[in-house]
Amino acid sequence: MITAGNKPQRTCIACRETSRQTELVRYVVAPDGTLLVDYRHRLPGRGAYTCIDIQCLQDAVKRKQFQRSFRGQCQDVSLEDLRQGLNAALLQRVANLVGMARKSGQLVSGSNAVLLGLRKQAGFALVLLAEDISAGIAEKVLESAERHQVPCRQMFSKGMLGQVLGKGERSVVAVQAGDLADTLLIELQRYAQMVREN
Ligand SMILES: [Zn+2]
Repeated sequence: MITAGNKPQRTCIACRETSRQTELVRYVVAPDGTLLVDYRHRLPGRGAYTCIDIQCLQDAVKRKQFQRSFRGQCQDVSLEDLRQGLNAALLQRVANLVGMARKSGQLVSGSNAVLLGLRKQAGFALVLLAEDISAGIAEKVLESAERHQVPCRQMFSKGMLGQVLGKGERSVVAVQAGDLADTLLIELQRYAQMVREN
């Protein structure tokens, strides 16, 4: 199915929309019959696909589309397990991208450095705030980012964000404009779509 220069398309088992394969979540069945999230499309075997949207995942589980797609190879399909698997994959993916941005010198961390960079219009494409950031710092950063039209997103605890960077706690990071920042924004959007309530 995969041909050079031709973007392979797949169909979401829930809404039946066809999209580029890379814009869908892939699922595979492990030898023991467990349904696994293959977010990065790396596991061998037959795959089934859904949109990166909690509604499609819910519908697929409710209508037993996974059992149908895999012809009964997977028995117990748990929405909660799949959701957790997908959240974990997205967290890992974002953490890897943030780590790559740091290694390639495209990231600034710490509220003072980020606020200074925003003021100097240092070319940030994205500001990432920890979920447990103090309200006072968050307010300052959000205000400055809005003034300079830099999108802000929230993810990770301060401890986790620091760990991703190999440092102590960090409540704010900013990423310079570029391919990495673009990819990060897409993955953060996907995360927001997956954790959305209802
Ligand atoms: Zn769908």
